[in-house]
Order: sequence, then C-alpha cells, then structure tokens
Amino acid sequence: MTEVFTGNFTQQEPIPEEGIEAALRVMRSGRLHRYNTVGDDPGEVALLEQEFAAAMGARYALAVASGGYALACALRAVGVKPGDRVLTNAFTLAPVPGAIASVGAVPLFVGVTEALVIDLDDLAAKADQADVLMLSHMRGHLCDMDRLLQICADAGIQVIEDCAHTMGARWNGRLSGTDGVIGCYSTQTYKHMNSGEGGLLITDDAQVMARAVMLSGSYMLYDRHLAAPDAATFEAVKYDTPNVSGRMDNLRAAILRPQLRALGTQCDRWNERYRVVETGLRDTTGLTVIERSEQEYFVGSSIQFLLLDWPDAAIQEVQRRCAARGVELKWFGGAEPVGFTSRYDSWRYAPSAPMPASDRVLKAILDMRLPLTFSTQDCALIARIIRAEVSAVYQSL
Ligand SMILES: *Cc1c(COP(=O)(O)O)cnc(C)c1O
Repeated sequence: MTEVFTGNFTQQEPIPEEGIEAALRVMRSGRLHRYNTVGDDPGEVALLEQEFAAAMGARYALAVASGGYALACALRAVGVKPGDRVLTNAFTLAPVPGAIASVGAVPLFVGVTEALVIDLDDLAAKADQADVLMLSHMRGHLCDMDRLLQICADAGIQVIEDCAHTMGARWNGRLSGTDGVIGCYSTQTYKHMNSGEGGLLITDDAQVMARAVMLSGSYMLYDRHLAAPDAATFEAVKYDTPNVSGRMDNLRAAILRPQLRALGTQCDRWNERYRVVETGLRDTTGLTVIERSEQEYFVGSSIQFLLLDWPDAAIQEVQRRCAARGVELKWFGGAEPVGFTSRYDSWRYAPSAPMPASDRVLKAILDMRLPLTFSTQDCALIARIIRAEVSAVYQSL
C-alpha cells in the first residue's frame, strides 16, 4: 500500500487562549494604537518590548509592523545612505534585498556553501567593498559566527542580523541577534511567533535604538517606551531622524506576549520534529542531509536537503511524486521565482555577478516547512515518502 500524507504544510497552531483573551481586552478598550494608553498603563507594545529585550538579553528592543520593516529601519538606523553597497546573502528571501533596495542602497551578494550558510571566504574577499553586512540566517542555518565577527571587525563592517528564522536559536550559547549591532525578527504567521504581521529589533547601542524609535514613528512620545535609551540620547537625534511610520499595535503585541513566554518550549518541539525527518532521510543515496554544527542550537521550523548535481527534470519529478503523496517540497533552483523561492539572479533591480559554486548549491536545495501541527509520526511518514520517491527517481537516472 502506498502511504499518503494528508496534513497541511501551512497550518500553524492556534493563538494561545491567553493571547486571545488579551486581544479581546485590547479590542474592548478601543485603545489599539501603542501610544493610546491611559494613566500609568504602559500598553501591550511597550510591555512586549521590555519582555523581548529581557528574553534576548539585549539592552533595547523595538516592536514594528513587519520583519521587512525592521530590516529597513535597521539599515537607516546605522546610517546606510542611497547608493551605498550592503553585503548580503545570495541564499535568502526577497524581503532582505528588498529592504536594502527600499533605502536606495545596492545589495552585494555573498555566496552560499553546501552547509547552506554564508560563504565566509567569499565574504572575506568582498569585505572591502561595503561597510554594512545584512546577514540573513536563512532557514535557521547559523554560520561560524565567531569567524564572521572576526572578518567583519577586521574590515570595519557593521553587522545587522536577519533572524527571521533564528528567533530562539544560539551560536556557541549566544542568542541569535545579539552578535550584530542590530538583530531583526519577524512575527509573521510562518515564523516562530505569530501575529499575522509584525517585527522586532534589538540592539545594545543607545544612539542606534533612539534613531530606530524615531524612525518607527514615535511622534516624540519616546518617553513611553520601556526598552529604549534615556531622553538625552533622543535629544541628540530627534531633529535629524525622519518619521517612517511602521509601529506595532497593542492588538498584535497582546497576541505575542504569551507566545514569547512559550518560545523555548516551542523551539524544542520544532527540533524534535526536525530530528525525526532528518533521521528518516539519512543515508538515502543521492540525497545530502545538511549536517549541523555542534556549536549551533537551531530552531527546526523547516528542513532542507540537497539533490546535488541532479538534472532539473529529475528534481522536478521528485517534487511532483512527493506532491502526489501529500508532501510539499519547495525548490530554490527553479529559473523563475515561484512562491517564496526566488534566487539572487531573479532580483533584477540588484545587479549580480554569476556565482557558479553557489548556483550549484541553490539548484540542489529542496525545502519543507515543519509546522507544530505535525506530530512526530507525521514527520516519520513524510521522511518515508521523500526517501522512497528520491530513491525511485535516483534509480531511473
Ligand atoms: C519572513 C522573512 C523576512 C521578513 O519578514 P516579514 O515579516 O515577512 O516582512 C526577512 N527575512 C527572511 C529570511 C524571512 O523569511
């Protein structure tokens, strides 16, 4: 009998009841805007910022409208100007080069290795060409952060971390997002906390946070923040920092606060599922499992594997056969951007030189979400299906 998986790859868990109740309270109050508070109630957004800063061990935190907004805000806050070049990953999602383009800057792509992390040799070779690196921890794969920081320190490069897939992850014990000048997070539905849309950014740099708060649209109400620097720091930047509104509202913050308290448990649950799929895929001929570093505590909210040097048609055949059995695999190698799987050379507003070694890897990447609505039995079934179909197609090559 041929096994078929009937689960849904886009089905996340419901919002915790506590979050639903908090959201109802905000709606009943009518006070959804973050600065629309009464008396000494700081409001849900200010509290979320305070709790997020504490959870990440950062001095300051700011909640904003989306992860993409956090990235663009971070670029402005560290002083990126139109025409500047910004180093970034060739393997990432469209909002990353998009954030760079949104401030009039130009992405300069750095290659990807077979471990699906930024190619540090390529980074070192390009380090003299920009002052800022927007580092995307794409699909939760953390590079050797110690070496990356050394390369960037030697070249005077400021690092902004895109932690859309690493909220709760660690390198060598350090939480992802705390190594760079700024760490940016998304709370969009497919990430590690779900408010539909939303973003957060953290920093230990007072000036940078003062600028970020002003940029986000604080209407000079920055003294209402609980995770921001003192008034004197704002005095120094407030006349020179434009208002580019992108605030978070109390409704989303209310939904997120209980999720933040559960983040550690959720990360462990993701990893339990990830390990089941990984184990099931190991030693499949023709398929390369991505080995994870000992220094990395990742969050397995999605899994990738490689079909290295396979013909395009055979990869598409694997995708087709798995889909027929209910398993949705996304391919980063397609010539045309489909869904979220675009490549550096599909972003035509950003000029790029060909990167053959990265192209070989990108062409081989198959990607799959692992929502927490899947049981570990579901994960074992999914792995059996992929294994069978990869093996069948491989034998016909
Ligand atoms: C989702 C995502 C973002 C941006 O988040 P939005 O909240 O959708 O704007 C940035 N980088 C990566 C890698 C992402 O997956």
